[in-house]
Amino acid sequence: MIAELVTTGSELLLGQIVNTNAAYMAQELNKIGVDVCFQTTVGDNRARMKEVLAFAMSRADLVITSGGLGPTRGDITKEVSAEVMGRTMALNEECAARLKTHFAKIGREMTENNLRQAMIPEGAHIFVNHAGTAPGVAMEKEGKLLVNLPGPPSEMKDMFHRSLLPYLAVKYGVSAVIFSRVLHTFGIGESMLETKLDDLVLAQKNPTLAFLVRPTGVIIRITAKAESAAAAEKLIAPMEKEIRARIGDFVYGVDDEKLEEIVGRMLLERKLAVATAESCTGGLVASRLTDVAGSSEYVKGGVVSYTDEVKAEILGVSKDLLESYGAVSEPVARAMAEGVRHKLGAEVAVSTTGLAGPGGGTEETPVGTVFIAVSGNDGTIVERHRFPGTRGQVKFRASQAALALLRRYINQGKALH
Ligand code: ATP
Repeated sequence: MIAELVTTGSELLLGQIVNTNAAYMAQELNKIGVDVCFQTTVGDNRARMKEVLAFAMSRADLVITSGGLGPTRGDITKEVSAEVMGRTMALNEECAARLKTHFAKIGREMTENNLRQAMIPEGAHIFVNHAGTAPGVAMEKEGKLLVNLPGPPSEMKDMFHRSLLPYLAVKYGVSAVIFSRVLHTFGIGESMLETKLDDLVLAQKNPTLAFLVRPTGVIIRITAKAESAAAAEKLIAPMEKEIRARIGDFVYGVDDEKLEEIVGRMLLERKLAVATAESCTGGLVASRLTDVAGSSEYVKGGVVSYTDEVKAEILGVSKDLLESYGAVSEPVARAMAEGVRHKLGAEVAVSTTGLAGPGGGTEETPVGTVFIAVSGNDGTIVERHRFPGTRGQVKFRASQAALALLRRYINQGKALH
């Protein structure tokens, strides 16, 4: 079944409000297997709305509008929809009575224009509005359905779940679910992923595969369509296994998991405390580690060692090193991690030193260069990175790389007693 969403209202066209209704409805319809193939937004103009709705009805089986069901003259969606469906409007006594009761209950006078909301296209199915006043309607013509839902998101969502979904389930038996599994990767680019999984991508059917670039790394989304969530999960499992067999080292988490939560869990399980020494990330690594509830169990503390003095005096990085290699260098990253580990008495420590930009880059050390070190009982490892992007992006990517290196260090059994 092909669906089109028609969101109405000049506020949307002017960019004064964000079209969250369209995103919400599309996601919810997707879950029951309805393909949303078109999304259109139109203002409160009668001729243009009529054109949009007529066109939508010609190319889709299910058209759902949101907005324009209110009591004022500008609220024309229901009237125009009735026109497109060739129906007249009449006052619906039940709706009018409900409105009167509503106004009596809240102790407000009901003005004449409020009755516009009780004007219903003949023969339409009525959806009662439990979260507001304007009822929604569904009209059928030649096996196609046009549904009008209210604009306020709370009203739309309530009506969508309470009335529209059950209505669609009975009418069309739509109950298929679309279920996705997200694999979070770090340290592997989109093109390398595609190369390694090329045959799977080419042969994809159900489940399908998508690569999406996020600030946290590339995510792989495996999506299956089936009759139930359990059946969809069964389709996804072998695909996930195959992907993990090929690039498992780069996968750090699934679905809503965050890298800082995973690292936190690992530290907790192994009873390790971590310390941080941060230059270019300015405390972001420590901040992310402490975003996790219960992190006081394993975060020892951190030093934002932005200047050479702090690197030298607090962390004990030798002035010689700073002078001969510069602050953004492999030996200094190493000395920072070792220094903070010693200073704060932690089992494992992570450090960052780099150039977040936009200025200050040289040919040898261009903007975006970041050295990251992790030090523990089994020695110190250092990585050199070059991150693209703005200052904020470089800082975030560096913090992600720092957490990823920490994860790898712990995973490889290092830092274990
Ligand atoms: P009302 O009975 O309140 O007049 P309505 O059905 O006529 O409701 P609109 O007047 O079109 O709906 O919208 C009311 C409010 O709902 C808007 O001011 C906006 O805040 C919100 N809204 C409308 N459409 C959307 C949308 N597509 N996405 C997010 N919010 C929306």
